[in-house]
Parts: sequence; C-alpha cells; structure tokens
Amino acid sequence: MSSSRVVALCGGVGGAKLAHGLQHVLGKRLNVVVNMADDFTHLGLHISPDLDTVLYTLGGLNDLQRGWGRADESWNFMEALAQVGGETWFALGDRDLALHVERTRRRAGGERLTTIADDVARRFGISAKILPVTDDDIRTMVVTPSEELAFQRYFVERRCEPVVKQIRFDGAASARMTPEVRAALGADDLQLIVICPSNPYLSIDPILSVPGLRDALRAAGVPIVAVSPILGGQAVKGPTRKIMDELGIQPTTAAIAAHYHGLIDGLVVDSADAAEVTGLDVAVHLAPTLMTDMASKIELAEQVVAFGERLSMPDAQSEK
Ligand code: GDP
Repeated sequence: MSSSRVVALCGGVGGAKLAHGLQHVLGKRLNVVVNMADDFTHLGLHISPDLDTVLYTLGGLNDLQRGWGRADESWNFMEALAQVGGETWFALGDRDLALHVERTRRRAGGERLTTIADDVARRFGISAKILPVTDDDIRTMVVTPSEELAFQRYFVERRCEPVVKQIRFDGAASARMTPEVRAALGADDLQLIVICPSNPYLSIDPILSVPGLRDALRAAGVPIVAVSPILGGQAVKGPTRKIMDELGIQPTTAAIAAHYHGLIDGLVVDSADAAEVTGLDVAVHLAPTLMTDMASKIELAEQVVAFGERLSMPDAQSEK
C-alpha cells in the first residue's frame, strides 16, 4: 500500500483522533471526508464544528486538556460579549474566532466551503486533503418529545439532555457530493475506505445521507473498514451511548456492525470486547482502540491500514 490512497469518513473529536494517526501513516495519500451537517450560523458567523476539529487536530493546534477547540486559547471576546449582553451559550475562543470570521467573509464572496477548508489546511501545514462532504447546506435536526432542535442547540446549549426520538438531516435530499469527494472515491489508486470511530448517528449518517455517496463508496471496489466508537458498552465521550439507549439500540459491537451492515467489509473492535464478536457477519479485527496520545493514534491507524490490506487479498474471508 506504499503509494495508494485512503479515504476516511470523519466527524469531530473521536474521528479526528484516528484521522490524525492516519495522516501520520499516509501523509498526503489521506483524504478525510468530513461531516458538515453540524454547521450553523451564530452571531452572523458560519461555524463548522467538525471541520474545524479536524483542521485543528491534524494541524496539531487542538487543545488536549479541554478536548475541543484550539490550544493557547484566550476568551476576551466571550467576556466582552457577556458584558454587552450577547449570546454566550456557544463558546468561541479568540483564536478560533479568526477562522469563523475569515470563513464567513470568504463564503459571502462566493467561495466554496471546500476551497476555504483546503486553503486553511495548507496554512496549518496539514498534509492530508480535508474535504467537507458537500458545499451545500445539510442541517442535523434532533427531534425530542416536545420540540425539534437544531443540532448545536441540542449538543451545546442543552448539553444533550433532551431525549432523542429521531435525527433528521434537513437539506440532504438535494445536497450534492463535491467533485473533490467524487474524485477521491473514484481514484484509480484508492486502496481503502475507513469509517472513523465517530458517532454513527450524528457524524457518519449525515455524510452517508448525501445522495450518491453510499453508491460511490461501494463502487470504489475497495475494502470499507469501520472502527467501533463503542468500547465495553460505553462511548469514550459524548452522547453516542445515550442516543443508542433512547433510540432503543443496544450499546454493543453487534449494533455498530448492524448499523453499517451492507456497507462495511470489516470492523475494528476493541480487544476488550473480544467476547462480543462471535457471530458477527463481517470480518473483525481486534485491537486496542482507545486513543489517548499520538502513539496510540498511530498504532490504531497502522492496524486499520494493515487490516484493509488483508481484506483486499483473495483469502480475506478467513478473517471472519
Ligand atoms: P464529535 O462530532 O466531536 O462528537 O465527534 P465524533 O462523532 O467524531 O466522535 C464521537 C465518538 O468518538 C464517540 O462515540 C466516542 O465513543 C468515540 N471516541 C472518542 N475517542 C475514541 C477513542 O479513542 N477510540 C474509539 N474507538 N472511539 C472514540
């Protein structure tokens, strides 16, 4: 696989950790297709939470302690905003703000989200290609028993507290895959597609909701490998487990395999969940999947790439 390409589908924090490891292993042979259905307009600014998490993480600019946003952040803008009675439920650090202001300015001038992300990625010294799945608007809506919430209102303002009845991707039916994503999936030297351990319902499903995307993934004719975001019946972080409970889905490896049934050829499962994999009708690779530092990100990325290589060999069925 020394010169072939990999496409990774990615949401925010969990997915970006693996994408960071993959970038270390693959450099510019990595294309990261990123969810943008969490995007929203706030204080007049176009904010792309997952895209920015990927840009900051792969650029080595992310804050490791806080777990989101930029390192060396300051909060003068938020303090001043509170002082004048502005909306403060969504925290925007001073450095982070610069990206939102610049993205908003460039979009107002007619530039695509893709072009702006690519330019910022180069400026951050990122070797992978960072590709929003679409330049059109898709907006994740969370349906609760009493109301419908735009995603950031649910996730940040309401801290994922409302019960999730249903998740909808407004605008998906008319969204168009970008030419860059189509080209990445159609590349002659594509070797592997990875579904990062992002939230399947909130981060990966919106990517898959883009018309033609699923078909393009299958038509690529290369192994598709997902990494489970569920370890020991729990999510590492965030509401994945809570949402599974509320949607009536068991928080198990089998449920993740079932969710991606018909799409994936292989599933990477944490070694601690070895007892859960018997009977799964997909090839399984067991590995430590908790990424706590750069070394564990790289180790998992290497295992995922090697698993993909094995799946593309003629006797791959023996992995099952
Ligand atoms: P968000 O959009 O920022 O919430 O991020 P993602 O959707 O990309 O990631 C959330 C998911 O990442 C959760 O389901 C977590 O369980 C998963 N996750 C976070 N860190 C890790 C990790 O180190 N290993 C694995 N396997 N999953 C992780």
